[in-house]
Amino acid sequence: MKPVIALIGRPNVGKSTLFNQLTKTRNALVANLPGLTRDRQYGDGKFDNKSFIVIDTGGLGESDEGIDAYMAEQAKTAIQEADIVLFVVDARAGLLGSDEMIADHIRRLNKTSYLVVNKIDGLHEDAAVAEFHRLGFSQIFQTAASHGRGVFQLISDVLAPF
Ligand code: GDP
Ligand code: MG
Repeated sequence: MKPVIALIGRPNVGKSTLFNQLTKTRNALVANLPGLTRDRQYGDGKFDNKSFIVIDTGGLGESDEGIDAYMAEQAKTAIQEADIVLFVVDARAGLLGSDEMIADHIRRLNKTSYLVVNKIDGLHEDAAVAEFHRLGFSQIFQTAASHGRGVFQLISDVLAPF
């Protein structure tokens, strides 16, 4: 079984850019898995002879109507389908309240999850990442997905147990 990696986070943090990096293509094959619906985007990736599937999601909203408003149905389903959840945040935007709510939700689902602080390009990395430690993830990756930076380290580490 190929491990399934879900990309979760607010809109505009760089999930789709990361998806394209991980699948190495803009015309990623749609993974043909039984039971997976088509309202999320699936792509195939391969790293170091390990095949995996990536799910891109549309992003979670900014409403303050409670956790259900933040967690769009697609994202919830993607998390349920996933072996690995990558929670993507935007180093430029900084830590927002909606990030904290999403983090809480991910934690409650008890999936293997990692925090990805994206858009680190041009920033002082340690300073940019510092505030995100309070989200409580034990492992934090730093990426600049649009430059492909940090992506190799990310995929190599998250696939290591598989
Ligand atoms: P999504 O809504 O989470 O899927 O985000 P997108 O992948 O569509 O990216 C949103 C915007 O952020 C686009 O303009 C991307 O080019 C830009 N972006 C994505 N990754 C990076 C990055 O690492 N650094 C910078 N500076 N911009 C990025
Ligand atoms: Mg997107």
